Amino acid sequence: MSSLSIYNSISRKKELFEPLTPGYVGMYVCGPTVYSDVHLGNCRTFISFDMMYRYFLHLGYKVRYVRNITDAGHLEGDRDEGDDKFSKKARLEQLEPMEIVQRYTLGFHKVLELFNTLPPSIEPTATGHIAEQIEMVKKILHNGYAYEINGTVYFDVEKYNREKPYGILTNRKLEELLENTRDLGGQEEKKGRLDFALWIKAKPEHLMQWPSPWGMGFPGWHIECSAMSKKYLGNEFDIHGGGMDLAATHHTNEIAQSQACNHVNPARYWIHTNMLTVNGARMSKSAGNGFLPGELFTGNHPLLEKAYSPMTVRFFMMQTHYRSTLDFSNEALQAAEKGFRRLWEAYENLQKFAAHEATAADTALDSNLQQLLTGMDDHMNDDFNTAKVLANMFEIVPTINSMRDGGIPANAISGATLQQLKDYFKNYLEQVLGLRAEVQQDDGRLNSVLQLLVEIRKEARAKKDYATSDTIRNRLTSMGIMMKDEKDGSVTISFA
Ligand code: AMP
Ligand code: ZN
Repeated sequence: MSSLSIYNSISRKKELFEPLTPGYVGMYVCGPTVYSDVHLGNCRTFISFDMMYRYFLHLGYKVRYVRNITDAGHLEGDRDEGDDKFSKKARLEQLEPMEIVQRYTLGFHKVLELFNTLPPSIEPTATGHIAEQIEMVKKILHNGYAYEINGTVYFDVEKYNREKPYGILTNRKLEELLENTRDLGGQEEKKGRLDFALWIKAKPEHLMQWPSPWGMGFPGWHIECSAMSKKYLGNEFDIHGGGMDLAATHHTNEIAQSQACNHVNPARYWIHTNMLTVNGARMSKSAGNGFLPGELFTGNHPLLEKAYSPMTVRFFMMQTHYRSTLDFSNEALQAAEKGFRRLWEAYENLQKFAAHEATAADTALDSNLQQLLTGMDDHMNDDFNTAKVLANMFEIVPTINSMRDGGIPANAISGATLQQLKDYFKNYLEQVLGLRAEVQQDDGRLNSVLQLLVEIRKEARAKKDYATSDTIRNRLTSMGIMMKDEKDGSVTISFA
C-alpha cells in the first residue's frame, strides 16, 4: 500500500489514500464545456489531474479515469432562462450544435496533446447519455426530492437539507447560503431560492431537445456528471475532481443528486485544483482575460512579450502546488523557461554518465543525494507536491553539472546511487510530471549571434589576428556549425 495522502475538500484535511478496491482507482474529473476554446486556466486544471493520473499509474494502480465532455445544457447560474450555450452559439454561427461540439472537442484534444496529457480511459458526452440522466431524474422524483412544474424538474434543496447537509462540501449552513441568494434567478416558478433544475423544458425553437416523461427538454448541467460517473464508476467511487470554482454549486449539487438517488455520497475523496489568475483575477471566459493556448505558443496576444512553448507552460504549472493559486506573468514564464532548460540539460547529461559498480568515495555526498531522492517520493505522497519535487531536483542539478565538468569525480557517488539518480530523473520528469524534450525553436536570435561572430572574425582577419579568427571557426565547427569562406568574401553558415 502506498503512503499517499490527499487533501480531501469534503473533510478539509489530508487523508491517507485508501481506494475502495485495493490496487484500483476510479477517478472522475469534470471536463470542458465545448462551445468555445479552452483557455489556459482550464488547461491548468486538466494538467493537474493528468499529473495525478500519471502518479497513480507510476505507483502501480490500475486507473479508470473518466473525464466528460459537456456538450449540452450548460447554463451559467440560472440566468440563461432555459437557453443553453450550445443552442445560442449554433444559432449565432448558423451551424448545427454538433458542429460546434465537434470543432471545440477536436481543438481541446489537440491542445491537451501539445501539453502531453494522457487521454482519459473514458470520455463520455452529455448528449450521449440522455437516457441515463432521465432515469436518474425519475428516481430522484420517485424518492421525493424533486418536483415538476410546467415541464421543468427542480431539485428540492430545502427538503434534502432536512435530512442531509446540503452545504457539506464547502462547510456552509443552508441559512447562510439562503442569505447569499437573494432572488429566484429569474425562475419564479421554483419553490426555493436554492432549487436547481434537473431537467429543463425547451422552447419550440431550442435546437437541442429530447423527449422525456415531462415533455421535450434538455438536462440541467449538474445531472450529467452524476449520471455518467454512476454509469462508469458505480454509485460510490474513489475520486471526484475539478476546479475549485465547481465546489460551491456544481459539485454540491452533484452530491445532493447522487445522495437523493443512490443514498450515498458518490466520491470518497473530493479534489479541487486552484485557479490560474491574471493580475490576481481568475482567468475566465466571461472576464475576457483568458489566453488561448494557441496565442501563448505563438506569442500572438497584446499581453505576451514572446511565445512560450507547451513544455515551458507545463513546467511553470508543475512548479506550483495544485492547491495554490498561480498568477500568470511574462517574468514568471521566462523564469520557468530558463529553469526547464537548465533541468532538462542536467537530465540529458546525467543519462550519458557511464554506469559503474564502485562504492561511494564521498559518502556524505552520496547519502545527501539519497535523501533528496527519497524526499521526492515523500513530497509527491504529501498531496502531490510537485513544487517540492522540482525543488529537490534543482538541488541535485549542481552535482550533476560538476560531475559533467569533472569538478566532482565519477566515483564520488556509488554505482547504485548513480543508477537511482538516472531512474528518478527519468520517472519523475517524463512519467509523473509529464514533461518531454522540446525541439528548441529558433526565434532568430541564434542567427543574430552568428552574424555577430562573422563580423568579429572579419575584423580579426583584417588586423591579421588569425589566432582569434581560427578559434571562432574551430569552436563553431566542434558545435556542428560550419562557417565557410566563399571566394567573393561572403561567409556561408551550415549546420551538421
Ligand atoms: P468549464 O469549461 O468552464 O466548465 O471549465 C472546465 C474546467 O476548468 C473546470 O474544472 C473549471 O473548474 C476549470 N477552470 C475554469 N477556470 C479556471 C482557472 N482560471 N484556473 C483553473 N481552472 C479553471
Ligand atoms: Zn461535472
